[in-house]
Amino acid sequence: MPGKPFVYLDHAATSWPKAQGVAEAMSTFLAHEAGNPGRGGHALAQAAQRVMDEARAGLAKLINAESPDRMVLTYGCTDAINLAIHGVVSCARCSTGNPAGVVISSVEHNAVGRPAETHRCEGTAEVRLAQCDSEGFVTPEAVLEQCDEHTSLVCVTHSSNVLGTIQPIAEIGKSLRSQFPNTLFLIDAAQTVGVLPIDVRAMGVDLMAIGVHKGLRGPTGIGALYVGPRAYPDDGEPRIACCRQGGTGVLSRDLTMPPGLPSALEAGTPNTVGAAGVVAALKKTSLGSIDDERRLLFRVIERFQNDSRVTFFGPRDPNRRTAVLSMNIDGHDPRELATLLDSSFGLATRAGLLCSPLCHESIGTFPDGVLRISLGPQSTEEVVDAFCDALGAVLSATATTR
Ligand code: PMP
Repeated sequence: MPGKPFVYLDHAATSWPKAQGVAEAMSTFLAHEAGNPGRGGHALAQAAQRVMDEARAGLAKLINAESPDRMVLTYGCTDAINLAIHGVVSCARCSTGNPAGVVISSVEHNAVGRPAETHRCEGTAEVRLAQCDSEGFVTPEAVLEQCDEHTSLVCVTHSSNVLGTIQPIAEIGKSLRSQFPNTLFLIDAAQTVGVLPIDVRAMGVDLMAIGVHKGLRGPTGIGALYVGPRAYPDDGEPRIACCRQGGTGVLSRDLTMPPGLPSALEAGTPNTVGAAGVVAALKKTSLGSIDDERRLLFRVIERFQNDSRVTFFGPRDPNRRTAVLSMNIDGHDPRELATLLDSSFGLATRAGLLCSPLCHESIGTFPDGVLRISLGPQSTEEVVDAFCDALGAVLSATATTR
């Protein structure tokens, strides 16, 4: 838009701009290498297979998965969560004949809340909520309180897209394994992969849903589900069923899905163009500290902390949050405020429920939600000051019209 300023403060929705080289890698792949992987021995098919293998291996390394084969490539983080929840519920029901026990935290995104609610409505799962505290933290105790010997799956988001709260995943994982060794632990890492260090083995995680278009600054339309050995043993019965079936390019004479990972859970022609983007994005990923982004967000808090009309949400300790800051301004509907910030100041923010109604019910901001700003590695002091100045102007205008 010529002449109009554009200040991007919505990195938690998706990164912008993408990592350097992502767009070029995708268009080069599409022009020269876009065969169908695993579906032929010719040069194009092999080139596409190489890109898929490279994406899988790079993602596996990033989260310390046991092997690249444990990274099931999906069409995004939501898709990965769906595979995990439907797959585990289906297996648990088959083996017990009863509804599966599922525990989710009270800050979950609809990517978790809706699949869980679908099972609750259909009577295929009994779903319980592990309640967060006022800063959005879900403690191991809050999770364990909701579990019993019938709990097949616990799901906790690594960091809330509303509050930025970084959950104590390793502590929850450790307590779960010691007290409920048959329960699988699923993490929604939409907001943290490429942002925080992740080690699925050290964290006691069995399933991890990953998107690549936020912290990794890769393309949309591709993600991955890490499937650990307790969920899908090398030898022994899988505890996650395949909820989509189709061609895999291997063992085609069978009408059942191949038994080994990743093919057991992947069906159909994959997003190879996206995989080329993932490979390029991974080359630019350096899990540096996010202290700079945190410091910038605290600049906003410091500027308005003495103004009683502004309420900030999330952890007070900057080291326990990602670069997401939600707030409410007395007398302003968050969505109208976001529209005003966009149209009058060129500020791209996000407002409303942010697809996380459960979280808003927990912190008392349902049904209007909040105004959220979220930063990325390229965010600068100027960008944050532009937001502060605009908010200051809105507050002054409100004061004079009252
Ligand atoms: N979980 C969380 C916490 C998220 O923030 C998002 C994206 N807003 C998702 C899941 C879903 O990610 P996607 O839309 O990329 O599938």
